[in-house]
Amino acid sequence: MPTMPSIGSSLMSAPHTSGSKTGIPLFERLLIESQSNCNRSCWFCPRTYDRSGKYLDAAGKPLLKQMPTEKILNLLDQAQSLGFMGGVGFHHYSEPLLDKRNITLAREARRRGMKPDLHTNGDVLKHDDALCNEVKSVYEFIVIGLYDYETNEELQESKRYWQTRLTGANLKFSSIGLSGARTGYSIGIPKALVPSDPRMAVPDLTFANAPCHRPLIRMIIQHDGEVCNCCEDTHGDFKLGNVYQHSLEELWFSQRHVRIVTDLIAGKRQRHELCRNCPLSPTGPVPRGEKIDIAPRRYVGPPALDN
Ligand code: SF4
Ligand code: SF4
Repeated sequence: MPTMPSIGSSLMSAPHTSGSKTGIPLFERLLIESQSNCNRSCWFCPRTYDRSGKYLDAAGKPLLKQMPTEKILNLLDQAQSLGFMGGVGFHHYSEPLLDKRNITLAREARRRGMKPDLHTNGDVLKHDDALCNEVKSVYEFIVIGLYDYETNEELQESKRYWQTRLTGANLKFSSIGLSGARTGYSIGIPKALVPSDPRMAVPDLTFANAPCHRPLIRMIIQHDGEVCNCCEDTHGDFKLGNVYQHSLEELWFSQRHVRIVTDLIAGKRQRHELCRNCPLSPTGPVPRGEKIDIAPRRYVGPPALDN
């Protein structure tokens, strides 16, 4: 259930203001992917093109794996002990409500002073009134992905449906329709591991020397414990380590993570294979007053490993 990341304005202007000895602040947001499955195959979603065995096997069949409950609770405990009180989601490239533990996990996050939020395609909620009531009571806000509309009228109709079905919830929408930008409003943007597509709402370009603060904001842990650098890092290609080998604190403040974050804040996308061909927009002006180096993106599939 990928969503559009928001960039904290404080981070864009003052990325080195942390009290930590490494020079980077603690993450603002925590994603723990509790399980690997999704019931959809959206055209704009990297999981649809995965054949690595992370989400889909070589034949394109979904893999069903989940992180043990005790590990998830342990990660929440670790985050709490670091003083984290921000937003927590239980998805990455997966549908969180396919996990029957979802409400329990959200309650556990809340019990630890965090703010759980739900990003869902909504399919499970359509026929489950009790679950609708539970998500309304436990989640700080709910983002519904609207993917089936072809026109703006259908988009408005979908929004009305959910506003009625989840009355009282703090509801937001992520709207990417079947036809993309051509016939209806869409926020479908190019993604590093998604082939170029005419339905994308903005031109498919790379920004070789532009800053990217995204890895400074979210700590993303996949269902197998791998830590991702950002939402584009579907396969854990930055090799940031695994929560089964290291603590959250060790992983977030590792020399490797700090170096990658520092590179990207300085606009050094060229240093990292996935960033070299990433179409995600600059998060600030290019350092040293240079012009942004813009070029058309060529989809190259999953990247080779960095050293
Ligand atoms: S519903 Fe979400 S996770 Fe599933 S394929 Fe679509 S965008 Fe990806
Ligand atoms: S530039 Fe690199 S760090 Fe930023 S979103 Fe793209 S792949 Fe991720």
